[in-house]
Amino acid sequence: MSGMKYPETLEDIIEALRRLPGVGRRTAERMALAMLKWRSDKLETLGELLQHLPQTVTFCPECGNLAQHGEKCLICQSPSRNSELLCVVEEFSQVVSIENSASFKGVYHVLGGKISPLDNRGAEDLRLDILMRRIGRGQIEEIILAMSPDVEGQATAIYIADLLQDKGLKISRLARGLPAGADLSYADAATIGAALEGRTQI
Ligand SMILES: [Zn+2]
Repeated sequence: MSGMKYPETLEDIIEALRRLPGVGRRTAERMALAMLKWRSDKLETLGELLQHLPQTVTFCPECGNLAQHGEKCLICQSPSRNSELLCVVEEFSQVVSIENSASFKGVYHVLGGKISPLDNRGAEDLRLDILMRRIGRGQIEEIILAMSPDVEGQATAIYIADLLQDKGLKISRLARGLPAGADLSYADAATIGAALEGRTQI
């Protein structure tokens, strides 16, 4: 691609920013040039935050959601959440969309994927042992299986429903209404709210 060549360090920053989703060359250039005008303490703060990102942002040992410094996530720590109602999702991005829909007051369990033989991903790759341990503590009464409406998501939901069959729990799945093949991560708030509200027991 032709265009203005910047000094090497600036080019390196532009290239690094371009690796972010949704950022093209022009946007990366604008970001880098804006940073050039920042005061050095502001740049240092950003640099430090990024440098320590892998240690500071961790996964909740309880539910697998994003957390900080190895602690429980804010949802697991909150006394106002209903810990009898557990929503099982594939990825933490789905926690974000359900939270943004403001239609759920229970707690979550993030599996870290779904059963997908084509990608060599089986049940043993999901956080199911931790899920079973949580259920074993006896506080959970209802489990909502909020898997994607695709083949892998539904296979995962059936697998987990089988696993929980004799645990004396109410097990439900999201109402139909999510577009086929759609990822919960990209569904809008009203759709997520309706799918949760109209959940059906299995
Ligand atoms: Zn948590």
